[in-house]
Amino acid sequence: MNHKNNLLIALVLLMTITSSKPVSKKSLSIHNKAITIDTHCDTPMKFVNNGFDIGKIHEAPDSRVDLPRMQSGGLDAIFFALFTSQRPRTEENYQQAYDLVNQMIDSTYAALEMYSNQAELATNSNDAERISKEGKKAIYLGMENGFPLKKDIKRVQEFYNKGVRYITLSHTSNNDVCDSSTDNAGAEHNGLSDFGIEVVNEMNRLGMLIDVSHISDKSFFDVMKITKTPVIASHSSVRSICNHPRNMSDEMIKKLAENGGVIQICILGAYIEEEDTTSINYIKHQELKAKYNNYNYKNDDERKAAWKEWDQIDKNYPPVLPDIAKAVDHIDYVVNLVGVDHVGIGSDFDGGGGLSDCQDVSDFPKITEELLKRGYSKEDIYKIWGGNFLRVFKQVEEYSAVN
Ligand SMILES: [Zn+2]
Repeated sequence: MNHKNNLLIALVLLMTITSSKPVSKKSLSIHNKAITIDTHCDTPMKFVNNGFDIGKIHEAPDSRVDLPRMQSGGLDAIFFALFTSQRPRTEENYQQAYDLVNQMIDSTYAALEMYSNQAELATNSNDAERISKEGKKAIYLGMENGFPLKKDIKRVQEFYNKGVRYITLSHTSNNDVCDSSTDNAGAEHNGLSDFGIEVVNEMNRLGMLIDVSHISDKSFFDVMKITKTPVIASHSSVRSICNHPRNMSDEMIKKLAENGGVIQICILGAYIEEEDTTSINYIKHQELKAKYNNYNYKNDDERKAAWKEWDQIDKNYPPVLPDIAKAVDHIDYVVNLVGVDHVGIGSDFDGGGGLSDCQDVSDFPKITEELLKRGYSKEDIYKIWGGNFLRVFKQVEEYSAVN
């Protein structure tokens, strides 16, 4: 073996080491000291769809969140979104959505019971830190879509009592609460409905976080007019960078910040960078959407089949995803617009979220590395990873305590 070969081997070894260890000691140390919270993942659907085991390690893209990877990614807390897709508001569909949310709650409870030495249900703003100090992962519950409320205001408290701490007022279509940003039919209530006003007031009273992700611009400004507390966008990005109706405009971000709220940047490709509509992945997803009538499922079997086909498309035709740097551009943009106190991270993992170099929760230290590279201080990074969100959570609790 000559010197040249030795050099080559050394070089390959060095490259292997650097690619498997991309995060610096300094980044890791800051990341591990921060209280890190991801405010949106759709993992509970996996419990119901295929009996997902959160205590075992899995691989992306099939799964992006589990307890072992939360541990290796230094993630202290996460919000499990109880997601139901919007369907026509018939008695039968209301019942199915309500049942599905309850199934997801019960299976989350069961998973936490099974791994009670590693994780715990979190229900207040102090729990993230307390549970993390006990060496466990804090699992919060949020409800994505007000559809399961079925125009019954008592259900807000019912879900609160089960541990739900935020409600994303709508999903991709209008519901009884408000108009969505992406309903093909356009506005139905011209923003927040009368029932929606009741829901916002009740959430303020109970100390629940109002989540404005997905709702229309008019719905958002209606919420801002009446809410007594700051609000969150649990998973939304910046419209000025990526022009998607579901992202937030500068005007909205300014209003959100003026009221003390926080936008949790959603690391889903199509919300970070405008999509390549000529890619096979995009075309196949559009076909799937049409096949399942805009994901308006007839029954449980159809829903399960669609999720399976969705995963299969991403496996067969992997999407070309933006990277962490592109996502951090959104953070920079919000910071430049309204300051560092109003931005955080909501991955949307297991619901479409994922970047080329951030495939699951174990990759989160890489985001810290990028923030550090761009000159953010340790204190800024603490705020982005959870401090800002917890500040809003505390204000929401304090308002409830005195009202
Ligand atoms: Zn969503």
